[in-house]
Amino acid sequence: MPAKGVHNLASAPRTHHDVAVIGGGVVGLSVAWAALRRGLSVLLLDRGDPEASASFVAAGMLAPTSEVAHGEESLLALGLASSRLYDAWCKELAESSGLDPGLRRCGSLMIARDRDEAEALERELAYRERLGLVAWRLRPSEARRLEPALAPTLRLALEIPDDHAIDPRALTAALAAAVCAAGGEIRHGAEVAALLHTDQRVEGVALRSGDRIGAERVVVAAGAWAAQIPGLPEHARVPVRPVKGQILRLRDPSGAGLVERVLRLADGYLVPRGDGRYVLGATVEERGWDRDPTAGGVFELLRAAREALPGVDEWIVEEVAAGLRPGTPDNSPLLGAGELEGLYWATGHYRGGVLLAPITGEALAAALTGEAPPPEALPFTPGRFTRAREEVGV
Ligand SMILES: Cc1cc2nc3c(=O)[nH]c(=O)nc-3n(C[C@H](O)[C@H](O)[C@H](O)COP(=O)(O)OP(=O)(O)OC[C@H]3O[C@@H](n4cnc5c(N)ncnc54)[C@H](O)[C@@H]3O)c2cc1C
Repeated sequence: MPAKGVHNLASAPRTHHDVAVIGGGVVGLSVAWAALRRGLSVLLLDRGDPEASASFVAAGMLAPTSEVAHGEESLLALGLASSRLYDAWCKELAESSGLDPGLRRCGSLMIARDRDEAEALERELAYRERLGLVAWRLRPSEARRLEPALAPTLRLALEIPDDHAIDPRALTAALAAAVCAAGGEIRHGAEVAALLHTDQRVEGVALRSGDRIGAERVVVAAGAWAAQIPGLPEHARVPVRPVKGQILRLRDPSGAGLVERVLRLADGYLVPRGDGRYVLGATVEERGWDRDPTAGGVFELLRAAREALPGVDEWIVEEVAAGLRPGTPDNSPLLGAGELEGLYWATGHYRGGVLLAPITGEALAAALTGEAPPPEALPFTPGRFTRAREEVGV
């Protein structure tokens, strides 16, 4: 008779690893690579539907200054800390993987198209100045000198020189190669069907195929699906929901150079890849697990882009997609140990998982090895939700 809370331990696991990571998006891969570099043996399991992952559709802005919002100053500190790691992290990644992770130090412009947007942008500038962030006010003529393709109707712009961008598809390819080069194993088509655990601690995972894998520690990095992994005891669950984002991939048939910087509009953004390809995003919709792009979503994105940049009319639409961001009740990530010994969370990165990938790797590697985590990660322990539930007696 199994002890209370024991899940699926009828037969012994066939293989054993220090760490099993569930999820092969940018977060799971970053954690796996960081853990390997601390000398742990790592098996990464992904169910093998990469196009469904948020990392596959993401635009790849690294934009803590552009995206800071009132009340989210801890998240800003986390984003800035991750942003500071990015250059060295990408350099090591390129060396380890032999692949270019696609970082572009291009800077960003926040754009106001009319008087209301210009007034709002002045308030955004004042807020950033109070926080000591680098943001420069540009008159329309100055902004158009930097980006001549901007519409002449432009009212105001802010230059954010330290917000850059990366190609998340190049980044995940480089991370996967680096994980393998460091001795890690990545298994695709490996859907985790249950977390294996006793009353006290995690023992591994069971796959849909029936395989059982032993692991000292299990990191749940399954994005929007993180809370759905079967077999977790109720008290150890964390709240994660899917938040839909529609996005377009466009190509300028006349080649590179029309836009160099990330352009941030009041209701969208345009990210140049530097080779004539652009990403135009993104809607933010609470629609459960729906991932269908809609005419309305695509129309609104194109309308916003065309008002700021008339040249968009000539571009070729290469891809329309939608992804699911992993959202938590405070839309901030869950980084670190969970409520069962050996259980760790790396999820809930919502709109910033690409930006937060390096610091997430550092925070989880520290948690897995008992080191002190980066101080900026401390406010993001998963316990903030499990404790809140205990306090209200749920
Ligand atoms: C339209 C859009 C634009 C975005 N733009 C940006 C941006 O510009 N900058 C930025 O920083 N962030 C951006 N984001 C957010 C970013 O994409 C996410 O925060 C990040 O990709 C989350 O990564 P992840 O690895 O946690 O999740 P995912 O990338 O979704 O990966 C989760 C993986 O887990 C796997 N999985 C799930 N369940 C199981 C299971 N049971 N067994 C095995 N595997 C499983 C899935 O198949 C998937 O591969 C954007 C998101 C969207 C949707």
